Amino acid sequence: MEYKKETIAIEGSWNMSSWEWKFESIALIRKVFEAMKEGKLIANKCPGCGMVYFMPKPYCRCLSEPDEFVEIKDTATVTTYTFTGSWAYEGISDEEVSGTPLIFAGIVFDGSNTMTVANIEGVEPDQVSVGMRVKLKWPDKVEGTLNDLARCVPL
Ligand SMILES: [Zn+2]
Repeated sequence: MEYKKETIAIEGSWNMSSWEWKFESIALIRKVFEAMKEGKLIANKCPGCGMVYFMPKPYCRCLSEPDEFVEIKDTATVTTYTFTGSWAYEGISDEEVSGTPLIFAGIVFDGSNTMTVANIEGVEPDQVSVGMRVKLKWPDKVEGTLNDLARCVPL
């Protein structure tokens, strides 16, 4: 694999008027964390179009309100990924950053339709691909935070 050294900037903007929507999501996300303490992943399902959201959303893209929680699996498919490494920081050696790149992946858990983000552990970047199957690496003790969802391993 060839590594490129130039920095890539992608123009864009965030619509900050969605703050209230994000605040409303917190209560839904708390339900996910409580279910995780029982060893389950849950998502909410739209009655209008059937979309299953993980993380749960208060409003569907079809403008209905997802009103049912369903259990989803802890296995997932990689839909996109990127990784870090000292090659990304000109003038910094591998030893100064870390010998092991971090792999950040967009994944869709089985039973849901939306992407979430996790690190993939136990593989090198050139072993990762879109469509790769992974499994959530449950922490020894689930704390009920986003960190519980931070790691996946290949299936
Ligand atoms: Zn919908």
